[in-house]
Amino acid sequence: MDNPTFRQAGHRVVDWMADYLETVSARPVTPSVHPGEIARQLPSKPPEDGESLDAILHDLDTILMPGMAHWGHPRWFAYFPANTSPPSILAEMVTATLGAQCMSWATAPAATELEQVMMSWLGEALGLPAGLTGCIQDTASSATLVAILTARDRHADDHHRLTVYTSVEAHSSVQKSYHLAGFAPGQLRLIPTDDHFAMDPGALQQAIRHDRGADFIPAAVVATVGTTSSTAIDPVRSIGEITAREDLWLHVDAAYGGSAAVVPEYRHLLDGLEYADSFVFNPHKWLLVNFDCSAYYVRDVAALHRTFGSSPAYLATQADTKVVNYRDWGIPLGRRFRALKIWFVLRTYGLSGLREMIRRHVALAQEFAGWVDDDPHFLRVAPTPLGLVCFRAILARDADPSAEDRFTRRLLASVNRTGRVHLTSTELAGRAVMRMAIGGRTTTRADVVAAWDLIRERAAQDRRAIASGG
Ligand SMILES: *Cc1c(COP(=O)(O)O)cnc(C)c1O
Repeated sequence: MDNPTFRQAGHRVVDWMADYLETVSARPVTPSVHPGEIARQLPSKPPEDGESLDAILHDLDTILMPGMAHWGHPRWFAYFPANTSPPSILAEMVTATLGAQCMSWATAPAATELEQVMMSWLGEALGLPAGLTGCIQDTASSATLVAILTARDRHADDHHRLTVYTSVEAHSSVQKSYHLAGFAPGQLRLIPTDDHFAMDPGALQQAIRHDRGADFIPAAVVATVGTTSSTAIDPVRSIGEITAREDLWLHVDAAYGGSAAVVPEYRHLLDGLEYADSFVFNPHKWLLVNFDCSAYYVRDVAALHRTFGSSPAYLATQADTKVVNYRDWGIPLGRRFRALKIWFVLRTYGLSGLREMIRRHVALAQEFAGWVDDDPHFLRVAPTPLGLVCFRAILARDADPSAEDRFTRRLLASVNRTGRVHLTSTELAGRAVMRMAIGGRTTTRADVVAAWDLIRERAAQDRRAIASGG
């Protein structure tokens, strides 16, 4: 593709993008495709000769788009938000255009220095305690793996005697990380939670004491600020007092919840973070920076480098002793220029714009929680500190909870089948739960009202169907 063609094609593609953003709300939130249906429409071999952009865009519209779930749809209430935004999209275009490999300062001086400044801006935005230094990781999963590996390497040998602690509600990436770090199943302790699904620090202390007695070496705790199932907030301060006293690495996973700290009234969620050895949150979830962009902060940068530092001869540069080389801060060597989209987003919206959005989402979630609480057919099953409401359907006063589980799952499927909204489910205390995650950039009160109306209407239909033997 020559440059004049690229220029023209670029304008067309940007028009396509703007049209998509303008019309996404008119599409079904999720597609109605069967497994294999998309692949079947694609040729089994790559084309021998090049094709026109017209042909490619035509197939994008007719083959791929009908198979897309629209994460940016204002009625997407599933999982956690994974927002994008116009300035972030534009920055990604520039990043792709520059095609820089940001592995070393010398290979991308401006990208390295912008990343340093952006990590410091984000730290300032969240009010992070002094002494934490940040870098960008692709995902929170990678950041947690980095934390566990670094914590492991603080102990010279005896890795088979180390133990790691997290709550039963921790994200699956914690177990994955611990497995990838070479630990055996018997080295992980899943600490029970209180009835709000937050880690019980007393049980943590007991488990550590018990392990020391059994000749284990307690090495690390992963606490969560905003668990994935229910946004439970582990008591970081109480946990930190234990990890400080017992000399364990404390990693705080705030993948979703951390962004809320841009709002002063939610800063208390990070209370006790001064005890953390490492901390991760995802601007790609709730700060309008599109996937992937995870902000990882660490107290002891030297410990990080002991695990991840590498200086092969073919990468050596004269600047190495004077600069930050981000290849030494994580797993991959090559790194994308991700700081650019943070810069575009923070400058476009300002902290005031981001605060306004998060306050709006949390207020909508509080309102939705109130509707659930006021409706005798539903029960809210977890606190709603942020933008997620967890609830289930209630049948009669003395109904069998497993019948309510079946009813709740059937209701979720029936609501999602309409394609008008999308919610996901989880289990809390072994019971089926619907998750309504409110955090879309363009989600309005009308969208939330529509979702609640649809849920109640379908629930009433399902109850009538059951009453008549359906
Ligand atoms: C979403 C989430 C993760 C995983 O995030 P990725 O960036 O997709 O790896 C980890 N922990 C928590 C608490 C999450 O909510």
